[in-house]
Amino acid sequence: MEYEAVIGLETHVQLRTKSKMWCGCANQYGAEPNTNVCPVCLGMPGVLPVPNEEALRLTVLTGYLLNCEIPGFAKFDRKSYFYPDMPKNYQLTQYDKPSTANGVVEFEFNGPGSNNGLSRVRITRAHLEEDVGKSTHFDRNSGLDFNRAGVPLMEIVSEPDITSADMAHAYLNALTEILHQGGVSDCDMEKGMVRCDVNISVRPVGTKELGAKIEIKNMNSFSGVRRAAEYEIARQIDVVKRGEKLIQSTRRWDDATGVTEQMRTKEDAHDYRYFPDPDLMPLAPTEEWLTGVKSRVVELPLARKQRLMREYQLPAGDAEVFKSNVELGNYFESIAKQAKNPKAVANWIINNLLAKLAESSSRGNEALTEESGKDQSLLTSAATIKSLKYPPSALLELVGLVEAKTISSSAAQQVFAEMFDTGKSPALIVQEKGLAQVSDTGEIEKFCDEAIAANPNPVADYKAGKLAALNSLKGQVMKLSKGKANPALVGEILERKLKA
Ligand SMILES: [Zn+2]
Repeated sequence: MEYEAVIGLETHVQLRTKSKMWCGCANQYGAEPNTNVCPVCLGMPGVLPVPNEEALRLTVLTGYLLNCEIPGFAKFDRKSYFYPDMPKNYQLTQYDKPSTANGVVEFEFNGPGSNNGLSRVRITRAHLEEDVGKSTHFDRNSGLDFNRAGVPLMEIVSEPDITSADMAHAYLNALTEILHQGGVSDCDMEKGMVRCDVNISVRPVGTKELGAKIEIKNMNSFSGVRRAAEYEIARQIDVVKRGEKLIQSTRRWDDATGVTEQMRTKEDAHDYRYFPDPDLMPLAPTEEWLTGVKSRVVELPLARKQRLMREYQLPAGDAEVFKSNVELGNYFESIAKQAKNPKAVANWIINNLLAKLAESSSRGNEALTEESGKDQSLLTSAATIKSLKYPPSALLELVGLVEAKTISSSAAQQVFAEMFDTGKSPALIVQEKGLAQVSDTGEIEKFCDEAIAANPNPVADYKAGKLAALNSLKGQVMKLSKGKANPALVGEILERKLKA
């Protein structure tokens, strides 16, 4: 019998707010332990929470970005449990009335059920809650840092629509790209801003009933999620094939040994005794408030990629670069709108500008770490684009010079390097460096004669039928002309002379 995996993800994302969820303490990573704390986030008796409105907005914004419904009524509940890193002994969360529900994420992934290379995962809900503190265990004692306690945290729950480890990985990348570009979260994995719980079960192919749900808790890297899911799917299939029974349970992934281990089964599951928080009013957003949030919705990355391919006839690879690098994409569009050949503009930006920027930033920049999510340090910032020495019109001019055959493509490389360094206009650089292409046939004839006279071997080869020998002669002529001869003319003239 063949088995298939059924996976659902609960993704926790820290929201990009200045302050915490219920108090004015800074939401700031990396501060000295216990410096961003106050009686509210330390859970002192008698304190009252005041909701962070920006966190409420970002949660509803997420709802719009993930095609969710925004219910007219939401509330906060207390989820009661004791743990040293949570001094209130309850976590505030949205239990049965979340701020958003019933959405969908569409992303590029080829697999069972995909359509034209696109897959969909339905979103059950995205709700708002709060993060807890952080414990560090030393030799004989433990330390607690409450800087993270009360940081706004959003939980995005997916339906069990994911069918493989690779699909889970692709979904997480797509989801965090949307949240990052939407300004909801920085999604910095290194700083623990994204964590997820992975629910996995297996069932015989073709059946509908779900198998026992097994949850892997607290994953903090997407590659870890992929490895853990691969391991766990194989393990579960192995268990059922042996005729044994799987039971609903929670497991932990050990990244070093590459296995999951059981933490607890359903019998020892917590009873969280949820009840509405009596200190907080329910939420009933007005139309006006919702309109304000809606105005912050950005174009989704996938939609942007598809539009760039459609409007500018870009190949998928180019559109992909501009999809993940929004500022660079905006820069491309600002120029391509006026260009006859947008693809040429894309080439200059992707092949030349990015290389130049990488070159200048690698001087004095620390090396990139592997699992920094999206290599965000590679994303071009608006400030970088603004600081370019040449104006966008110069790139259009450069493309025009190549298309008019005023300069050869190799000369254009020199012009670009010079305009990047100095900001001089392409026309001026061409003039100063004498880079204009020679299309004067008389002059080219002279170079051809010289090349033929100086290279008897390739000449003989060509005459003997080795047509490739023409390239070596062409190269000689280009050298003699210092790269300025029009290569098409050189080819024509050489052939005519050799056949004579
Ligand atoms: Zn506080």
